[in-house]
Amino acid sequence: MHRTATKLADGRELVYFDQGPGALREVPDERPLEPAASLSETRLDPVLGEWVTVAAHRQQRTYLPPAGECPLCPSRDGRLSEIPAPDYEVAVFENRFPSLATGSADHVAARDEPLHTLRPGVGRCEVVCFTSDHDASFADLDEPRARLVLDAWTDRTAELSALPGVRQVYCFENRGEEIGVTLAHPHGQIYAFPFVPSRTARMIARAEAHRARTGRNLFEDLLAVERGSPERVVLRGEHWTAFVPFAARWPYEVHLYPHRRVPDLTALNEAERAEFPGLYLDLLRRFDALFPAGPGGARNRTPYIAAWHQAPGEGGAELALHLELFTVRRAPGKLKYLAGVESGLDAFVTDVSPEGAAERLRAAVPA
Ligand SMILES: [Zn+2]
Repeated sequence: MHRTATKLADGRELVYFDQGPGALREVPDERPLEPAASLSETRLDPVLGEWVTVAAHRQQRTYLPPAGECPLCPSRDGRLSEIPAPDYEVAVFENRFPSLATGSADHVAARDEPLHTLRPGVGRCEVVCFTSDHDASFADLDEPRARLVLDAWTDRTAELSALPGVRQVYCFENRGEEIGVTLAHPHGQIYAFPFVPSRTARMIARAEAHRARTGRNLFEDLLAVERGSPERVVLRGEHWTAFVPFAARWPYEVHLYPHRRVPDLTALNEAERAEFPGLYLDLLRRFDALFPAGPGGARNRTPYIAAWHQAPGEGGAELALHLELFTVRRAPGKLKYLAGVESGLDAFVTDVSPEGAAERLRAAVPA
């Protein structure tokens, strides 16, 4: 993997990842950009003990631009985008409209009043472009390119974890307008949080309780049980297994674990890295094959969220790295909305059985 770190016109960092050496990457950003001030803050909900990030400046961000104005396409034919090079393989840059930014500490003062705890929203938000092809999707990548994305996620995890104030690094992809994606170009994001998000904190607390009760690791026990009972397993590799969780929340939800428990992407070994791209691409293609094509055979790609769960830098020793992939589509043309029960109380109701979902995913024939 070849890595070239550069700066955009307003000082944001841009890193190119290439499979080999020799590509033209030292291209200056010629746009007249002013540095954007970040006014992000995080507020502690005193009732739930959860942090909420308030990033009011993000309202002006780019919303579904026409393909000719895509900020994630390379800079070509006199049109300047976020990526100055005329082509690229994988490119990662700091979001121009970040929810979290190290600069927030200069603009937002911390507050500690009774029941009102506020901190500047320090951290970082990055955009990961998977390909320069505007019309592709992650599932269209070949294995070497998917591997390059894995290497980019790993590089960013190592680098962002080391930033002052960062507690947890979260790599994810939102795919599809149904999920709220505002740019069609195939890309994911990385958030470096100044706190441990509540879902991670809950997982760690459950794993610590399991350790206290049994002397064993929760995730290792869980993976052993799922690997031993085939009804929810979707894919088996030599180093990874993908299964539908016993209490899946979403219509189609798959968790992908390495067999060896590791805290984060930086701890994967070469054999695990080598096997991941093939398995992950297979899973994504099965998701795309779940629902029939639209009128006239139009591609009807399944909207999804892919979320890497990684251990925080401190206090996450029991957490196992894994990827959670799920879709909000429950039937052709029908979405699962988070309505009163889910949004109001965090209590999920699903009308697709996890075992049935696993069976459909095993039977799905990737296009
Ligand atoms: Zn594009």
